[in-house]
Amino acid sequence: MIGYCGINCEKCEARIATIKDDDKMREEVSRKWCELFHTDMITPDRINCTGCKGDGVKYFFCNQMCVIKPCVTSKGYESCAECTEMDSCAKLAAEISNNEDAKNNLIITKHKNEIESS
Ligand code: SF4
Ligand code: SF4
Repeated sequence: MIGYCGINCEKCEARIATIKDDDKMREEVSRKWCELFHTDMITPDRINCTGCKGDGVKYFFCNQMCVIKPCVTSKGYESCAECTEMDSCAKLAAEISNNEDAKNNLIITKHKNEIESS
């Protein structure tokens, strides 16, 4: 469940709250993310997502405002790991510069792709 930008949607609290249909967790995630992103737009009713790929409900930011998804899909890639600009891309850096897990996921995916194509 590695997303376009490298975030592992499987570990995402919004996804876990959605899968469990846990309103208390939705409230906690809403509070945490509002604080983290300095906004009051992330209300508990918006904490609904099954992951950025495939069918199912999607979190509004990841679905409508993410700049990575349209870029990756327009190039026909599964994620930024397939892109030659991965290491220098400002868009990607802005999205995941503080997310070591996402960065590592992209690096691992890139290496796997290289091994598979060699
Ligand atoms: S797409 Fe959904 S599951 Fe993935 S990171 Fe965004 S909110 Fe979380
Ligand atoms: S240009 Fe940047 S955002 Fe687009 S696919 Fe490449 S690394 Fe990802």
